[in-house]
Amino acid sequence: MILRAASRTRQPVRKVRTTAAPHPLRHRLDPARVEEIPFRTGDGVNLALTRVDSGERDRPAVLLLHGHTASADMFLLPETRNLVDVLLDDGYEPWLLDWRGSRRFPYNETGRRYTYDDVALYDIPEAVSRVREHIGDRPLFVVAHCIGSLALSLSMTAGLVPGLAGVVSQGVFLTPKLAGRTSLRMTVAGELLRNRIDHIPVDFRKVGLRSKYTPLFALASRGAACPDPTCQILHNSAWGSGASLFVHENLSDATHDRLAELLGPAPLWILPHLRRIELARTVVRWHDTDHRYRALPPNALDAAARIDTPVLLLSGSENGLWLDSQRLCHEVLAHRRPQLDVSYTEIPGYGHLDTFLGRGAALDVFGHILEFLGERR
Ligand SMILES: [Zn+2]
Repeated sequence: MILRAASRTRQPVRKVRTTAAPHPLRHRLDPARVEEIPFRTGDGVNLALTRVDSGERDRPAVLLLHGHTASADMFLLPETRNLVDVLLDDGYEPWLLDWRGSRRFPYNETGRRYTYDDVALYDIPEAVSRVREHIGDRPLFVVAHCIGSLALSLSMTAGLVPGLAGVVSQGVFLTPKLAGRTSLRMTVAGELLRNRIDHIPVDFRKVGLRSKYTPLFALASRGAACPDPTCQILHNSAWGSGASLFVHENLSDATHDRLAELLGPAPLWILPHLRRIELARTVVRWHDTDHRYRALPPNALDAAARIDTPVLLLSGSENGLWLDSQRLCHEVLAHRRPQLDVSYTEIPGYGHLDTFLGRGAALDVFGHILEFLGERR
């Protein structure tokens, strides 16, 4: 499978230029209300924070963290009632972070390398402190999806983001279990290595009919009900892993047709860290000897006692990527750390990404988030 194959070659972390401006956000808000606040992390990476101005200065703030290869756009879909709409209507001030794995950054496709340690150590804590510079002592919540949530769990158990008012974690938190059909992954791995591929693309129009990526798309199309190659590689194959990112019928046609805009190529060089996390069944630090990462716990689950805020674990009942990781996390924490305030809510009929991108997410999912926030604001 590709995780195992890729983990044989450890790639050094290397610095690259990250100065280009991010792709513009796509939304239907009044542009005057959308304030972009660029900042540079302690290790020299340019990131983007976005504040949506509600016109009121006393609202609790909610910071939104996207998944890997997605972006803040996943919370702003113009074609549906999105999470930012719902938060604004319910009296919150939304903030969105594009962390270094965002598809909005041009460097996302050019092979710059990092691990989730960097996201947990630099991106999330620095974004939280920037938000706090603006909001003062108002409550600050975080809603995090997928790898954004996994990295947040490492920041939290390192004590790097203390005093949050509450955290909503979607898909995966401290106890990752990855799905994937082994046979497909084995075949894909051989093709990837033969063709020296370091990213899994999702946009068939960009890579063309005949390219080194053709076998990947061909494999992803096997047994697919939908003819769209981008949809196939995400829905049917999750970047070649054999997992599935959403329940197909939950997406509107408009969202379905712009999946390649919402999700970028997946880098293969992140897989060794993901593989180590998968094997440990918990979030573990990648860097063992580099002293810069000493602030992070070697094993986040073992450090769960440092969590100082209520946590709502969310998952679709049909999550085809992280399976029942959230239910497992709830059980493990209830057993090992009964003093923590951790609850679990399962959304029937939903997969993974559709909990935010789904055409009915405002009705079926966001109410659970508002209820959690409302009890703690
Ligand atoms: Zn489709």
